[in-house]
Amino acid sequence: MKIKSINPRTDTVIKEFESTSQKNIVDTVKNAKKAQKDWATLPTRDRVAAIQKIAKIIERDLDEVVDLIYEECGMPKEETEGAIADDILAGVDRFIEDYKSVKTLDYSDEVFESKVEFIPQGVVGHIGIWNYPFWQTMITAIPALLTGNAVVYKPSELASMVGEKAASIIWEAGVPKDVFNLVLGGSEEGRAIVESDVDMIVFTGGIETGNEIIKKAGIKPLLLELSGNDAAIVCEDVNMEQAIKGILWGGLLHGGQVCIRIKRVFVPEKIAEDFVKRYVEGVKKLKLGKEISPLIRDQARDKVDNQVKEAIKSGAKILTGGKKATIDGYYYEPTVLFYKDSDLKMYGEEIFGPVVQIQVVKNEDEAIRLANDSVYGLGATVWSKDTKKAEEIARSLETGTVWINDSNCPIPCAVYCGGEKQSGIASSQNRIMSFLKKKTIINNSKCETREWWYPYE
Ligand code: NAD
Repeated sequence: MKIKSINPRTDTVIKEFESTSQKNIVDTVKNAKKAQKDWATLPTRDRVAAIQKIAKIIERDLDEVVDLIYEECGMPKEETEGAIADDILAGVDRFIEDYKSVKTLDYSDEVFESKVEFIPQGVVGHIGIWNYPFWQTMITAIPALLTGNAVVYKPSELASMVGEKAASIIWEAGVPKDVFNLVLGGSEEGRAIVESDVDMIVFTGGIETGNEIIKKAGIKPLLLELSGNDAAIVCEDVNMEQAIKGILWGGLLHGGQVCIRIKRVFVPEKIAEDFVKRYVEGVKKLKLGKEISPLIRDQARDKVDNQVKEAIKSGAKILTGGKKATIDGYYYEPTVLFYKDSDLKMYGEEIFGPVVQIQVVKNEDEAIRLANDSVYGLGATVWSKDTKKAEEIARSLETGTVWINDSNCPIPCAVYCGGEKQSGIASSQNRIMSFLKKKTIINNSKCETREWWYPYE
């Protein structure tokens, strides 16, 4: 089957790809299983050197990567540059340090000589995404390869060119092609990876797909990074100007196509009028094609438009936007949906587009309750000058990450970043540890007969 890369700013086909056949995917996983053994037995310094070289090549090719992402995914160049520099390159040394600090655990006592070693999972099936296609690829490929795994990687069909470029960087750095394997295609090819003999799956995408993967993957480790519906809790004692700017950017970056962007805002009655007025003024100043990116496809835009219509049925009032833009490309007007009080039920599904919902609440407790009244648990933000109180609020929010007076800036390489509730299955430890499994070795090294064994005679 053919897949097309399309420029969402112009609605033009840039390149066509042939999807990898199902048979090829099975063979690829088989070969990766063999290649992984050799990769894992290399001295650590060789894998470290390959990872450092990947970082060097990314720096060298930064402009090319940024241009590709702009062309194929519509992402603003500055944001991409920042994401690569601050969130990939700044984290590489940390990955290496984390890996070097992994030590065999010794649980020996007088009776048992026991240790726990950490070994690679094996072959990691990685199914990628298009909204941060390069970042998401690297924050999986780097720790997976460093820890001695092979990877079978399928970029999103909406970002095949970026996926190809990421793979070419990894190969150029010396990682063999059967250790980092590229599969091209869409949901069918993703399914084939899920149902194959890979030892672990890393998936970034929607909740519905995540649920299907859970049913089809069988028993194996899953790292699932899924949808979100992040809340912003605005407190009465907020620095209004800072919050307006932060929530404008945090709500509308990349055309709202960000898992951890602010999608719901809860604002107390006392400051609601001022906040809403200034926020809407701010939204009206944002320009399509400049601050506001296009949606990835026309179907995605239709979905957002339908969701906005559903929200209106739930009692939302449109304060600005609320329709498809009329210029070329898949643009949707930046939109504010307003719920005048907490008796109205806010539209509860994630809207993956430039739409921010604002609800007026009585107080912070009500804001926390409504923020937590959601199946999602990815991120949240709290806006208050009283940062101690904000930390208390942060602790009561049922999400993997909470920003205070800030948003959308994960720890480099998302070393710790994961969702609660339906937003995913995160690693219980840092990202390096996700790609290692435990091997317990209990050695009766003196070859003694144990006194509790059955008598032989
Ligand atoms: P999607 O689930 O449709 O697709 C994501 C990837 O999965 C693609 O590579 C696709 O080809 C593949 N795929 C689709 N169906 C599959 C199946 N049945 N089995 C295996 N693979 C399959 O995602 P989308 O709608 O394109 O992306 C948007 C969603 O991703 C949003 O909900 C967003 O919040 C989420 N997201 C989450 C994170 C995170 O880190 N939590 C990051 C980015 C995006």
